[in-house]
Amino acid sequence: MSHYVPEGLPGELKHYIGGELVDSVSGKTFDVLDPVSNTPYVTAAAGQAEDVDRAVAAARTAFTDGPWPRLLPRARARVLNKIADAVEAQDKRLAELETFDTGLPITQALGQAQRAAENFRFFADLVVAQADDTYQVPGRQVNYVHRKPVGVAGLITPWNTPFMLESWKLAPALASGCTVVLKPAEFTPLSASLWAEIFAGAGLPDGVFNLVNGFGEEAGDALVKHPDVPLISFTGETTTGQTIYRNCAAHLKGMSMELGGKSPAIVFADADLDAALDSTLFGVFSLNGERCTAGSRILVERPVYDEFCARYAERARNIVVGDPHDPATEVGALVHPEHYDKVMRYVELGKSEGRLLAGGGRPSGLDSGNYVAPTVFADVPPTARIFQEEIFGPVVALTPFDTEAEALALANDVKYGLAAYLWTSNLQRAHTFAQSVEAGMVWLNSHNVRDLRTPFGGVKASGLGHEGGYRSLDFYTHQQAIHVSLGPVHTARFGTVQKGQS
Ligand code: NAD
Repeated sequence: MSHYVPEGLPGELKHYIGGELVDSVSGKTFDVLDPVSNTPYVTAAAGQAEDVDRAVAAARTAFTDGPWPRLLPRARARVLNKIADAVEAQDKRLAELETFDTGLPITQALGQAQRAAENFRFFADLVVAQADDTYQVPGRQVNYVHRKPVGVAGLITPWNTPFMLESWKLAPALASGCTVVLKPAEFTPLSASLWAEIFAGAGLPDGVFNLVNGFGEEAGDALVKHPDVPLISFTGETTTGQTIYRNCAAHLKGMSMELGGKSPAIVFADADLDAALDSTLFGVFSLNGERCTAGSRILVERPVYDEFCARYAERARNIVVGDPHDPATEVGALVHPEHYDKVMRYVELGKSEGRLLAGGGRPSGLDSGNYVAPTVFADVPPTARIFQEEIFGPVVALTPFDTEAEALALANDVKYGLAAYLWTSNLQRAHTFAQSVEAGMVWLNSHNVRDLRTPFGGVKASGLGHEGGYRSLDFYTHQQAIHVSLGPVHTARFGTVQKGQS
């Protein structure tokens, strides 16, 4: 297969600190691979603690002395809207670079670019419309909430939809008046290199946005441990989240954690099976299956199980796997050979844990690149590792159930609790099941379609705290309570009795 390489790729990727593109102090770099040829196409500056120190110092100065935190919300919103305009104006270029770097199918990368623009527009609107609480005690007191940005926000992001997930943190942090240091994922630093120009062009003051490339254990770790970074917003694996949680304890930092998932899609016999098929296929095979909210366990009620399995497998076998840049491609190449190896280990394991219905290895005709055929296992017991563990690739486990209670027990029988998808035409069951399932987000008769105002986040091992809508602004701001007395206050008068008198 010919290997598509976008024109005008940068020769190197630098850090962006205080408005300037800079190398690492140490001069260290690392190679970045593209997932189709698996060869290095660029080197990126490998940030160390001293680079993080410089970035945090720039962000701190911009926070304490610069205009950004003190601007009226409307003025910040204007800048955010210009950022959204710039992202929209180059959505095709962004998608091209993202697809090249991540292996995501180009049509889906384009959707992610547009969603990134929408995040900026949404938080621009929200910060202007923001209202805070006032509590009156008639004749005595007015109490009001004074909201202020927390400070320098440390933003640490994964590789699965890099640009969009960065925007998901950058937009509310900047809207709130924080200054930021972003540490993008080391597998996929390319699209993040576009932020600097986008932000500068939109009029964001220097030092408000800073970016340090590098490995999690070096640059990410230094950011988490930096005393001048009071809050960390992290999206990534559960085990990494646990390490960061421990490291934040020393400074009692604010934390928001969006972690892994193994979300169930539950299909009852009374569901619209055609719609459930379309949606559950998209739910696990879109974004190459590298999706935190993937419905990667499909629980199907026994009377329709065999039919569902047969139709599901047939569709999975028809999925177009191939060149991520081809608009006809439905599943592209996994991000990196290390991740490919991990997914392939699960595919092999699945052959002993379930009944292979589709896929099961490399698609024919694609002999190089990180391609995995959409893989379907049926009859997967809840004890199986492919039922319990996040694979983060195009692999799905199908399991039958007989009763609603059994379906709920199976749905909840994993350590994760990010999303759940429920397919039924029984209204009462839809709501009672949705309210009982251990998941931060539930979709009834739908895959993941999310209004930006709603809470986003998981329970159990899938995360800590909820962002989304006003909750994101709450995370990046302090809500200071100011109490004003409206008249004389009754005060117990200490120290009015002269010593020696009784
Ligand atoms: P990861 O945890 O390996 O890395 C995420 C980021 O953390 C990277 O930037 C990495 O460099 C950094 N990092 C690694 N070790 C660190 C450390 N010790 N200190 C500070 N930073 C460190 O995750 P990944 O493999 O890049 O992403 C895939 C995971 O992300 C999956 O588990 C997926 O479910 C999860 N995810 C969750 C959501 C969500 O919203 N819940 C969204 C997307 C992805």
